[in-house]
Amino acid sequence: VLDAPVMLRVRELDKSFEGLHAVNKVSFDLHQGEVISIIGPNGSGKSTTINLISGFLQPDSGLIDLADEPVAGLSPADMSERGLLRTFQNGRVFGGLTVEENINLGYHRRLVAARPFKSLQRYPIARWLSLLAETGVALVPGPRTRREADEVNIRVDREIDRFRERLSARRRDCTYTLSYANRRRTEIARAHISEPKILLLDEPTAGMNQSETAEVLRQLQYLKAQGHTILLVEHKIDLVTALSDRVLAMDGGRVIAQGAPDDVRNAPQVVEAYLGK
Ligand code: ADP
Ligand code: MG
Repeated sequence: VLDAPVMLRVRELDKSFEGLHAVNKVSFDLHQGEVISIIGPNGSGKSTTINLISGFLQPDSGLIDLADEPVAGLSPADMSERGLLRTFQNGRVFGGLTVEENINLGYHRRLVAARPFKSLQRYPIARWLSLLAETGVALVPGPRTRREADEVNIRVDREIDRFRERLSARRRDCTYTLSYANRRRTEIARAHISEPKILLLDEPTAGMNQSETAEVLRQLQYLKAQGHTILLVEHKIDLVTALSDRVLAMDGGRVIAQGAPDDVRNAPQVVEAYLGK
């Protein structure tokens, strides 16, 4: 994958919060089809890095190029319009919408008008705009014809069936009734269906038990096999090792090691960073 073109180029990315240097001159390249995991102790700047790349925070300085186009400083909606989609450390789905409605939203190039969802009509449009902005899903025109609408519905069904194990029986259920793990899987499906150039996943298995984690790992391995380009923040080192082409270790806002998973996890400065906390 290192021969593949660079999809995401990050250079000297920098962000401070009132004197706290949360992200300190972070640089790396993410190649097409590559999976990179960011590891590091709590507070080392992993989520802030994701927030900067996805436009939820503005960098103080540094460059972010998506497929050679500079994108640093764009809004989350503009980032998602360009193909940079993310999920959140705590998970963000719309609890009042069903699984399939949530995933439909992610198909954002043909948004909202697809199925005449009753639940969608519960919300005024202003509420929609703010909900979508929170998740970084861009609002663009929905399908114009019946045929386009049918296509969207078929795509959503297919997306759910891919992650069938627990999700498909619940497709008509509002996500607030789902387990935490299934809400997070819905969120990943919502990001995936929009055919992102890059998926940014912030701790997709946080708070999950072993079997739930294994299900998410299968979902991510499927995405990787499809050739998706993924930047992942993750603590579970076995999952990181199973999935990642390369690992970046952060501590105190800096990248302290990068390379093959086993080399990074065993690097003395990485071991020390974890022991010191
Ligand atoms: P990680 O995801 O690696 O646990 P974060 O990127 O969330 O770490 O946080 C890095 C540091 O920046 C922490 O010390 C955290 O408290 C601080 N921080 C993160 N977001 C903010 C914010 N919005 N305002 C102030 N401080 C923040
Ligand atoms: Mg975090």
